[in-house]
Amino acid sequence: MAQGCPFCQGVTQKVYCTTSQGTILECTACGGRFARDRRDEVQLDDPPAASAAINREYAESYADAADTELAIARNVVKFVVDRVGPPANVLEVGCGQAQIGRALGETMPAASYTGIEISKELFRGIDSGQKAQVIHAPTLEQALAQVDDGHYDLVVMHHVLEHLPAPADTLALVKRKMRPGGNIFIEVPNEQWKRPLISLRHLLKRGGDDWFPGHINFFTRRPLESLVRSQGLRIVASKVVPAADLPALVIKMLGGPRAYRENPLARMVFGLLRLTQVERVLGYGISLRCIART
Ligand SMILES: [Zn+2]
Repeated sequence: MAQGCPFCQGVTQKVYCTTSQGTILECTACGGRFARDRRDEVQLDDPPAASAAINREYAESYADAADTELAIARNVVKFVVDRVGPPANVLEVGCGQAQIGRALGETMPAASYTGIEISKELFRGIDSGQKAQVIHAPTLEQALAQVDDGHYDLVVMHHVLEHLPAPADTLALVKRKMRPGGNIFIEVPNEQWKRPLISLRHLLKRGGDDWFPGHINFFTRRPLESLVRSQGLRIVASKVVPAADLPALVIKMLGGPRAYRENPLARMVFGLLRLTQVERVLGYGISLRCIART
């Protein structure tokens, strides 16, 4: 694997921060941040010790959270359709429990949906109504080989790129699946204030790690946009979305609805965020969303 920056392949980096969980490097060319020493975590097929932590946190955040997942999915579908219109053939890469497929079916029953999920655990948890639409294979390459090239007018990658050791290579593979003029929707966590967010996470998610296990790329807006453009894609929408606008995602990140209900401090902090709209004033947001066209 190349030792360069996963976003721009630049070869020089500086240390952004070091915690007990690892070191985050920052590319001096594009400003992208990544944790190279934690790449082992994302090899889900042959799980080393670290991926036990990933499975535990995912299981926690999915438990008792079907409604939360569906609320997140409906928000994504609305965001995309408002900007590029209703899709006909949708491919979701890294679909989790395929709730975006479900949300799509609610409002656009004529659209066809195919999901790809490489985690055995998550695939097992997909309910029987969605499972027939989801491809499971040990690697993204193997799963992508099972879907047609040039076919999809919408590809969705919702909170996926932050997990991938070589996001540029994966985007190149995914782009081949898109129809000419097709769109790709990408959402990743916005990590513009990673250091204070590590402290906030410790405060709000007691016993949690410094950051979500399995995240190895830490996006801010510029490196995300340059990664997308480097694949020859044209950006048609780009947005930093405040936490106040994505309550279901916040609840998921804090461990799911039950954990959230039992966490008065987190509820208070989030209540204040929603009330004060302070994120808008500061130009902060919890997620980055980008739609790009071939
Ligand atoms: Zn870079």
